[in-house]
Amino acid sequence: MTRVRFGVYRTVGEARLLAGVLEASGLSVEVRGESLAPLSGEIPSTETWLELWLWPHEVEAARQLIAELEENREAAEQEVQCPRCREENPGNFELCWSCGLDLPSTLRPRLRAV
Ligand SMILES: [Zn+2]
Repeated sequence: MTRVRFGVYRTVGEARLLAGVLEASGLSVEVRGESLAPLSGEIPSTETWLELWLWPHEVEAARQLIAELEENREAAEQEVQCPRCREENPGNFELCWSCGLDLPSTLRPRLRAV
């Protein structure tokens, strides 16, 4: 069985974040190209690239996870108004910062911790 390339990322942070999310969900991720990442800032960041490789049967699950991650990011950028005190809260807050009420969350529960 041969791994397939799932995606190419320009930053170590992005690739590591995604690899971490996928691994936490039980997928087997191989990161390639990491040796090209700048260690001392000598390599221009535009030449940094990392690839995530997955087993073919895990690609679909990985796509869904990444899609949920994107949805959560978008949700986190939208303000949520507290139904009790009317204060605006960032979309990724679970409790109102002002009165502590449980906020209606649009986030997918299994990715809340990410
Ligand atoms: Zn409130």
